[in-house]
Amino acid sequence: MRRTIGTQSVNLSSVEEPVSSPADEPPSTTLQEVASAPAPLVKPDDRNWGDWRWQMRNRIRSVSALLERFPSLRTQEAGLREAEAKFPIAITPYYASLIKGTTRRDPVFQMCVPQVQELYDPPFLRDDPLEENEDMPVPGLIHRYPDRALLIATTLCSTYCRHCTRKRAAGSCESVTTAGQIEQAVAYLNAHPEIMDVVVSGGDPLTLPTPAVEQILRAIRSVPSVQIIRIGTRTPVVLPQRITAELTRMLRRYHPIWINTHFNHPNELTPEATAACEHLVDAGIPVGNQSVLLRGINDNPKVIERLCRGLVKCRVRPYYLFQCDLVRGVEHFRTPLSRGIEIMEYLRGRVSGLAIPTFVVDAPHGGGKIPILPQYVVSTSPTHTVLRNFEGMLVTYPEPGVSRSNAGRPSESSPAGVWDLSSGKASVITPANLSRHQRRKESEFHLLPAEAHTV
Ligand SMILES: *Cc1c(COP(=O)(O)O)cnc(C)c1O
Ligand code: SF4
Repeated sequence: MRRTIGTQSVNLSSVEEPVSSPADEPPSTTLQEVASAPAPLVKPDDRNWGDWRWQMRNRIRSVSALLERFPSLRTQEAGLREAEAKFPIAITPYYASLIKGTTRRDPVFQMCVPQVQELYDPPFLRDDPLEENEDMPVPGLIHRYPDRALLIATTLCSTYCRHCTRKRAAGSCESVTTAGQIEQAVAYLNAHPEIMDVVVSGGDPLTLPTPAVEQILRAIRSVPSVQIIRIGTRTPVVLPQRITAELTRMLRRYHPIWINTHFNHPNELTPEATAACEHLVDAGIPVGNQSVLLRGINDNPKVIERLCRGLVKCRVRPYYLFQCDLVRGVEHFRTPLSRGIEIMEYLRGRVSGLAIPTFVVDAPHGGGKIPILPQYVVSTSPTHTVLRNFEGMLVTYPEPGVSRSNAGRPSESSPAGVWDLSSGKASVITPANLSRHQRRKESEFHLLPAEAHTV
């Protein structure tokens, strides 16, 4: 069904931005901007700012509140109201303070303020493209992979991300899993001892009061076959005040606990957010990050590089980079798959392996996460595999136990082509003028006489 906005059907090309070349940065996200990322608008007289409950109570929850805060949006009021009717709004005062401009150039603005484009509805989009509702043996528990299950603990979030994959649930009815549902989930886990890893997700489970989170953790921990519990939460990004000493004291009683959070852009790495991540890690909780590739926000190798470098600096490990799901309401954020591959090509070799996430497509029809990489295997034969590295060097890796009699010792003199590598006649093809080789030449250290080494 094609949805219309007002009387006009939405034309995707009208929301299309010129595709930037991979190395280009969108003008909204220059390096200087992050270097001088302003501290959130903490009003010194506002003692409540650091109180997460105050942040929850004072969220922007309607278009009217949004217009009050950002009067320049009045020109878009009709579209905003239509989007609001379909997908709810919530923005914490903290996250709203990270908005630096009310245009599509501002990544935080785009991630939390509704846009009329959310109503664009081509036929291949679904409310539940991952068919999570089909993989629920009991309400709220998704059992897709053999050894893992995911519990939807609540559909409430402090801030509703416009790009949310669970847009069908998150916020559309703010509900909390009942004691009865938790009991059912625990019964299922007990009956399925092959499940060793339970992801507590939502919505955002850390929007619940600490005793409610503890109740869920205690219930899952009562299942002897469960080894690790993971919590999926965006609170370090949108409500870092939530990561209190009271919370981490409780969490560490249920170890091994892992947390995955959801930073998408370096502008989100504020001092508050960084401190929240560090508190979690200091409590012995390994923290990972799951980003979504979003058009006009982070679909750029350099933005992802800055994000990932910033994350490892606060001891958060980039875990996944997700291709946008085919979810109704997020089409305007979708990028071509090739963009993700380009980003992975850019990162590998250039950036610490610790800062490189796995790029995945969560397959439609509940196929689960599928990793996508650039092509590194160039050719194979029964005896050799030809690989390329990030510099474009081609090297051959001989299989074990291959008789050397017919291959002989590979000659190092200019191979004619890839076939020389796959047949073992040569071992490497090197691009001219590699900066690494330049460095080798410039480092005369090993060639100097011994006395030259002493200062
Ligand atoms: C992503 C996901 C998991 C966890 O997968 P990992 O690859 O182990 O992080 C588990 N269950 C469901 C339904 C998921 O979508
Ligand atoms: S915090 Fe997570 S579940 Fe909540 S709206 Fe954002 S992406 Fe969706």
